[in-house]
Amino acid sequence: MQNDTIAAIATAMSPSGIGIIRISGDDALSVIDRIYKSKNNKKKISACQSHTIHYGFIYDGDEKIDEVMVLLMKAPNTYTREDTVEIDCHGGVYVMKRVLEAVIKNGARPAEPGEFTKRAFLNGRIDLSQAESVIDVINSKNDFALKSSLSQLGGAVLGSIRQIREQLLHEIAFIESALDDPEHISLDGYPQKLRAIVDNEYMEIDGLLKTSDNGRILKEGINTVIIGKPNAGKSSLLNVLVGTDRAIVTDIAGTTRDVLEEQINIGGITLNLVDTAGIRSTEDVVEKIGVKKAMEHANGADLIIYVVDSSVALDDNDYDIINFIKDKKAVILLNKSDLASKVSADDIKKLVDKTVISVSAKESSGIDELSDTIKEMFFDGEVSFNDEIYITNIRHKKLLSDAKESLKLVMNSIDDDMPEDFYSIDLMSAYESLGLIIGESVEDDLMDEIFSKFCMGK
Ligand code: GDP
Repeated sequence: MQNDTIAAIATAMSPSGIGIIRISGDDALSVIDRIYKSKNNKKKISACQSHTIHYGFIYDGDEKIDEVMVLLMKAPNTYTREDTVEIDCHGGVYVMKRVLEAVIKNGARPAEPGEFTKRAFLNGRIDLSQAESVIDVINSKNDFALKSSLSQLGGAVLGSIRQIREQLLHEIAFIESALDDPEHISLDGYPQKLRAIVDNEYMEIDGLLKTSDNGRILKEGINTVIIGKPNAGKSSLLNVLVGTDRAIVTDIAGTTRDVLEEQINIGGITLNLVDTAGIRSTEDVVEKIGVKKAMEHANGADLIIYVVDSSVALDDNDYDIINFIKDKKAVILLNKSDLASKVSADDIKKLVDKTVISVSAKESSGIDELSDTIKEMFFDGEVSFNDEIYITNIRHKKLLSDAKESLKLVMNSIDDDMPEDFYSIDLMSAYESLGLIIGESVEDDLMDEIFSKFCMGK
């Protein structure tokens, strides 16, 4: 069953330069032999050397469908470890479907979503955390997220988790054998020793968990709220960042009433931007709703961008906002730097210890400095993109928390002088939770859940 031959369109189902049809399984070579003809009609793909590329045509019966390049990769050096053929055809949706149809008619069946990767996993080519990273690679929203997914593909998570598991297993085995053979193996002083080891592993797991917030930021973007008094230039700034006239810009104070959401990419980092109504106190009901929403959003945000109109003097509203952002992650923009200035960076610095940047939404100046500052704020020193381990996957995070919880129970048992067999139950739970991350005791339903998240043809 497992080696029946599967096929799918591996590229997007939208018109593009080339489309790739992927075939994998025992019959991949005979399928391609049936539908491929070289220019002189003398070549048989299955007889060619592995890892070669062949120019020719795909036929459905007698009908020539497309001019193609065929990539031949024989087992075992392939992604699925099975014989694999990729047909690079023209990228029209109709053509890709026709080629796939020909492939199906000649002995392959349509692949389930994620089935290629599932085979790679089942055939030992990748472990489960690597398989999940493939989903992340496919779904990555920006370069940094891609890099972190790739580092997981390199097995960084696997390495740390294996190490912790080995240590746990060692201790479990020791306790079990000591309980079996108390005459020869003494548990005197062992609880203290185990306490130190578990402490260590606990911290280690905690460290992995802590990277998950950075991981979220890399993957999903920084939730950013723009606040400032009406007319400060929030909408204009949003427009500059987004690069369209998405928000309505007016010079009547207080006209941006709705909370607008927009995702932008500056310098490789994704910001999820929320523009808001100004946050001055007002009797206007509609605007009040906007203000309330702004505060709500700002409270839960990763980053606040506070826009000040530098062409008018600061007033009480500004002082309120400055107070509000004091303990939050915030950048202050002195907007309208193209006009005569009534507020300087020093004026603000005296009130609050935040980075202050001069910008002009009108002239699109100061934006690079803003993106550099954001990068520094979120990624300075603590995070490097290439070799840190990011736990970006919600399932991983849950299992790590479970493992941590189990280790906490072990510590409690030790502290409460409980019998040793209590330790090994919880050590085993931690061991199993960690194992689930890398798929070492994986159950079928879990696997199906993971692989069904894949796109077709991956
Ligand atoms: P919001 O109420 O904070 O969203 O402010 P808007 O973006 O609607 O801008 C209010 C007014 O200020 C509009 O007339 C904008 O054209 C103007 N404005 C915004 N940014 C700048 C700037 O950098 N320089 C100048 N001179 N005018 C700006």
